[in-house]
Amino acid sequence: MAKPKLFSPGPIDVAPETYAAMCGPTIGHRGADFEELYASVQPGLQEIAATERPVFLNTSSAWGIMEGALRNLTHKKVLNLCGGAFSDKWFGVAKSCGKEAEAIQVEWGQPIDPEAVRAKLSEGGFDTVTLVHNETSTGCLNPLAEIAAVVREFEDVLLVTDTVSSFSAVPTPFDELGLDVLLCGVQKALALPPGLSLFVTSERAQARAATMPDRGYYFDFAEFQKNHEKNNTPSTPAIPHIYGLRERVEHMLAEGLPNRYRRHEETNALLLEWAAGHGFENLAPEGFRSKSLGCFKTPDNLDQSGWIKAVRENHGFLINGGYGKIKGKTFRISNMGNETVETMQELFGALDKELPKFRK
Ligand SMILES: *Cc1c(COP(=O)(O)O)cnc(C)c1O
Repeated sequence: MAKPKLFSPGPIDVAPETYAAMCGPTIGHRGADFEELYASVQPGLQEIAATERPVFLNTSSAWGIMEGALRNLTHKKVLNLCGGAFSDKWFGVAKSCGKEAEAIQVEWGQPIDPEAVRAKLSEGGFDTVTLVHNETSTGCLNPLAEIAAVVREFEDVLLVTDTVSSFSAVPTPFDELGLDVLLCGVQKALALPPGLSLFVTSERAQARAATMPDRGYYFDFAEFQKNHEKNNTPSTPAIPHIYGLRERVEHMLAEGLPNRYRRHEETNALLLEWAAGHGFENLAPEGFRSKSLGCFKTPDNLDQSGWIKAVRENHGFLINGGYGKIKGKTFRISNMGNETVETMQELFGALDKELPKFRK
């Protein structure tokens, strides 16, 4: 049976052109061919991240860098800003790395309050903050600029930002906001298959990393910097993914970033309008809603899993039935990557057709 098209928020649907690009020849990574490939994606990725800093390519999923950032940067104590499955788990990962960690925990779906961050950091003792920009499990888009401005008030505190489901869907200007680490995996907003992640570091972050004991090898920021200077990666990279990344970056630049951001806004507005039209309540409050997905509360009178299954089996589209502790109580629909008004409308057509059968 054909696999369904993914409208779940990650991994997402991958374009045939991307798969085709990934079939390029395997090349030795310590040679001119790879260096050329590596260098070719830099300007485009720097444009998307709005940075003059290098964009490192790392062969792991996002969690590699999420954990690695703590091992490179957290010497005293990390403040984890938690409000969903990914941000909450980061707190657990910090502790499992043996780091001292404290959390600001908000209700799932709610945004992080920059004032609360200021109050907590004012207590002193912190040197790192983690923030999930777009909490993919709840559809909440956190106020990145405001939180970054607060963290910047505290010298010696570095801000690590996860943009897994927002990078290239909304602007995340690294230099302008004064971020210290920006990271993302490629299987969500960038619409590649899973297996590669990207990250940018500030000079401050590199300086801190260079002095950190026990930061290991695979995610060592200093190793990434050193190899970057030769257009290379510390260890053997996922070369097919980098071919695919090159294809996607070219595609994004051809579309134009402002157009790409506008397309996400339009398709997301349609999604929210469709949901509101059915009385589906958004888990995230107005003003803090993701532009790349929607997370909606499951009404009591809906057989959600039956509905999702029928849409998959009868129409070949897959949406998601909630993640983490809100599984079954919410559902999520992605508009990230390559979706357009037309493809979203096709999905809504399928969802609408099946919905009446599963209203109890
Ligand atoms: C999916 C996701 C992750 C985890 O990514 P992996 O690819 O599983 O490592 C982290 N943060 C956010 C916001 C995500 O959506």
